[in-house]
Amino acid sequence: MFCYHCQEAKKNKACDTTGICGKKAPLSSLHDLLVYVLKGLSFYAVKAREKNIVQPRLDQFTAESLYATVTNVNFDNAEFVRLISEAVQRRNALCQQLLEIYKQQDSTFEENPPKAAVWQYASIDEAAFIKQGEEFGVLSLEGENKDYHGLRESLIYGVKGLAALIEHCLVLGYEDHNLYDFMHYALDFSTIEHSLDDILAMNLQCGELGLKAMGLLDKANTETFGHPVPTKIHTDVWDKPAILVSGHDLQDLAELLEQTVGTGIDVYTHGEAVVAHAYPKFKKFFNLVGNYGGAWQDQKNQFAKFNGTILVTTNSLQQAKKTYQEKIFTTGMVGWDAIPHIEARKSQQSKNFAELIEQAKQNSPPTLLTETTITMGYGLQSLLALKDDIASAIQSDAIKRIIVIAGCDGRHKERRYYTQLAEALPQDCVILTCGETKYRFNNLDLGEINGIPRLLDAGQSNDFYALITFLQSLQKSLDATDLNAMPVSFNIAWYEQKTLVILWSLFNLGVKNVRLGPTLPPFFNADLLKMLTEKFALKGIDTVEADIEAMLVGE
Ligand code: SF4
Repeated sequence: MFCYHCQEAKKNKACDTTGICGKKAPLSSLHDLLVYVLKGLSFYAVKAREKNIVQPRLDQFTAESLYATVTNVNFDNAEFVRLISEAVQRRNALCQQLLEIYKQQDSTFEENPPKAAVWQYASIDEAAFIKQGEEFGVLSLEGENKDYHGLRESLIYGVKGLAALIEHCLVLGYEDHNLYDFMHYALDFSTIEHSLDDILAMNLQCGELGLKAMGLLDKANTETFGHPVPTKIHTDVWDKPAILVSGHDLQDLAELLEQTVGTGIDVYTHGEAVVAHAYPKFKKFFNLVGNYGGAWQDQKNQFAKFNGTILVTTNSLQQAKKTYQEKIFTTGMVGWDAIPHIEARKSQQSKNFAELIEQAKQNSPPTLLTETTITMGYGLQSLLALKDDIASAIQSDAIKRIIVIAGCDGRHKERRYYTQLAEALPQDCVILTCGETKYRFNNLDLGEINGIPRLLDAGQSNDFYALITFLQSLQKSLDATDLNAMPVSFNIAWYEQKTLVILWSLFNLGVKNVRLGPTLPPFFNADLLKMLTEKFALKGIDTVEADIEAMLVGE
């Protein structure tokens, strides 16, 4: 096993015996084999596009499968055996279709297909797949320069983050063929070595497409649920049995709320689901009573105290403790072999949450964790409504700097930095945030500047799109030449692959002096890091004092 996908890789190098996230070596091997097979599938998908053949279900399948390998999504070996065999079957069928077309046109494939495009299994067998996957891990791909691994993996992890965003859009029925085109092109591209410049260009394109995917998800969410409005969210508990919904999937939450109306069950959000409270469509549900707990890494403690039933909808799953193992369900691409899974919705129908609701009725009400309120809902429309006031405050020096603290939360104690940073920023600084890193400081009372809250929370990590679009609009109002000429600093907290898309989207926009913490990615090897430092002045985090001093002068 060798995995350095995420910020919690062992010693910031790699998990090599078992994953800190709970991923065991056999599962890591199945992830590696699936990615390998998907690269081969994409080789043919790229060729098929040259012949104007596009198979929508194949594109969706590829995105869903890649997303399943994102950190903390799916830990169910059987699911990966299914995905690997389906990928090979789809690839073989597409290859056959292409061969027939070439034959009819009296031409043949010029290229030697990569080995990933011709790999076959003898039988669908978990043990054999695990053994095969060991040959296709990060360090073992044939004929490669060792220095190249990090560069290639950086692109693959960015594409995994992109695939996650594509999947979230797909749930709401939104798609963009450009995103699928790039996903296949990048996977195919990764099967051979390229120059550092070429792979950097692909990573930048991944950032560009990632921001487009976040924009599509913003459109999907706002057209489905309305535009978020600033909302105070309660974090205390009521006295009825309850269901806790964790993850990004607002459609799951909406359907569950519909099905729990009148049952006497309260529903709470957890982690990234908290944003639902700010969407108009969710305000009609009186049984959506509050947010329980904080970011994903605290779930073992918080789920145990919740007492009720828990539904995990997207990436954030940890191995369940015995205290709540009987009460947790997964859905979507999320899975763990010992946890019951709510099946996908059939066309034009809602998911069936009856089993979960019946179980929830037997539970005790949640145990109180906190009694504060948190405020969020500064989506794009709400931010734009504040734009003139913010522009005036910047022009009058009432606001000296906007600090964007966005991204993921995680277990490392170094992440206290983000709380201390929010506390220590001068009173004339405003914080823009999104993603779970907000749980490090969203309970602080940071006050206002001329009636503008000093903490503006857009929502989920994908709502980074709202932050960037707002800042670009503010840039025009201030007649600034680009984002670097604005009084804005970016301080990104990463954990998993979607945040890498945020990082590359900033580089693609030419943003300099981005801080990335709490540690730099282990797969950013020396060459890539040197290039990113020279081109974009990428930085790790330092002490709070040193970083504030530097950010205030635009460094
Ligand atoms: Fe380790 Fe992260 Fe990979 Fe899990 S996803 S095995 S924690 S590097």
